[in-house]
Amino acid sequence: MTRFVVNSPNTEYTKQHIFSGYDYQRTEVDVDENGSISVTPITRKFVFKTKRTVPKLGVMFVGLGGNNGSTVTGGIIANREKIVWNSREGEHKADYFGSLTQASTSRIGNTRDGKEVYVPFSSLLPMVHPNDIVVSGWDINGLDLKLAMKRAEVFDYDLQRQLAPLMEKIVPLPSIYYPDFIAANQEDRANNVLNGDCASLAHLNQLRSDIRKFREDNKLDKVIVLWTANTERFCELTAGVHDSEANLMKAIAEGHSEIAPSQMFAVAALLEGCSYINGSPQNTFVPAIIQLAERLGLFIAGDDFKSGQTKIKSVLVDFLVSAGIKPESIVSYNHLGNNDGKNLNAPKQFRSKEISKSNVVDDMVQSNHILYGPGEKPDHTVVIKYVPFVKDSKRAMDEYTSTIFMGGRNTIVMHNTCEDSLLAAPLIIDLLVLTELMERIEFATPEPHREGEPNGYRLSEHPKLEFGRMDSVLSILAYLLKAPQVPKGTPVINALFKQRSCIENILRACVGLPPENHMLLEHKGR
Ligand code: NAD
Repeated sequence: MTRFVVNSPNTEYTKQHIFSGYDYQRTEVDVDENGSISVTPITRKFVFKTKRTVPKLGVMFVGLGGNNGSTVTGGIIANREKIVWNSREGEHKADYFGSLTQASTSRIGNTRDGKEVYVPFSSLLPMVHPNDIVVSGWDINGLDLKLAMKRAEVFDYDLQRQLAPLMEKIVPLPSIYYPDFIAANQEDRANNVLNGDCASLAHLNQLRSDIRKFREDNKLDKVIVLWTANTERFCELTAGVHDSEANLMKAIAEGHSEIAPSQMFAVAALLEGCSYINGSPQNTFVPAIIQLAERLGLFIAGDDFKSGQTKIKSVLVDFLVSAGIKPESIVSYNHLGNNDGKNLNAPKQFRSKEISKSNVVDDMVQSNHILYGPGEKPDHTVVIKYVPFVKDSKRAMDEYTSTIFMGGRNTIVMHNTCEDSLLAAPLIIDLLVLTELMERIEFATPEPHREGEPNGYRLSEHPKLEFGRMDSVLSILAYLLKAPQVPKGTPVINALFKQRSCIENILRACVGLPPENHMLLEHKGR
């Protein structure tokens, strides 16, 4: 494990914590009625406090037996057991490629003779290692994970063969199945379900007791619950049901039909003190659930893993618009043959996905009023088709047509083929690792130093710092999510590298490193 220490009066390491004092610089803008703009730079002091002890973490996947559930579980076990397997291309070793935290690096600076030094992202702060995550979860289908992995057809045969004895010991817990929320074509899968087909206190209590048992049986310090089950239809936001915690609890007790399984899991997780992550597009996070998370000081994050087509879109459109090129039409076709594709074949579930994929370029378009007039957007169409033969190997075909210099046209066409679950699994790992880390980071925003006040406190002994966690809606995870949820009033950022910088710079701030600004002024002469 690469380790580094920061030599700075603003960084202090105690046995339990890392403290850092950080000057956050931003600008405040005023626009008057004539459109004149005045900009004021503002510096605000933040003090970050990060707990150094890494807990024993468990995850409960909703949809454990699905392609993502079985792939991420198999991936963790293969890494933990250092499995080596053969395919027709030769020998392979388990890895975490595709994971920001496990397989990417961060530049921490240059040596005196100008060489850049990069460290693993995971060494920026103490983080859980995915190999140590204990896995469990629920599925409406009762296949053990050996058979679920076989059904998924994602891993090479030789890897499946070696994983089999370890995977067959993992059997999904029975789940709640409210048929109205997922496609009717999923019904034949539902053979591992609790009695009852709508919300009830009995269901809520069972899910809560499953979480408690998992925590106790495995002596876990923390559990995170993550939805990687089928995409649900949007729930009909209903006054008196979804608008407050009290109404939601009452509606659950009365068996209201507009409470989705994902909402039951979110409530159960939060009431058991667990953060809850939504990897699918549906509107799980109604005001009542956000309120509950805020009251309990826990995290929720979503929606929908940003694994393939959208990820590229949030890079390419950012590049085009920031280069002064005007994308006018973006057309995305997908076909896939896994169970996710089968479920998305139903109009209501497709609609959830379509909504989540539709706003992903808005922030980039709105950033450039030279190219786009008020309210103007590129035409943006998303098509998804179910083609069973291609299984998990999803095909995404995109066409970007832009207006360029002097009325010219530029068309870029892309074809992307990949096992969908091999893209999603490392994102799931990052969501877990980063959510757990965020549970150990607190910050305070002390008043600026006043005349007459003693200066030079060690941060750990400062008498006036009131620390607290980030907002319950964990927007720092936006990099990993297609339709990022943000706290009220916060701008939604979809541009991928802004999202990555947000995570990287916040983690750097926690150890007292300045944000990565890429200016390299030390190499610009003098
Ligand atoms: P999958 O169909 O293989 O797995 C979903 C699993 O959820 C199934 O095993 C199903 O039996 C189970 N399930 C359905 N309802 C349930 C419930 N109420 N309780 C417990 N289990 C339930 O799908 P997947 O390919 O693993 O994808 C999972 C989700 O992730 C989908 O919603 C998909 O849209 C979303 N997603 C996937 C990717 C990706 O794979 N690249 C990207 C973004 C989002």
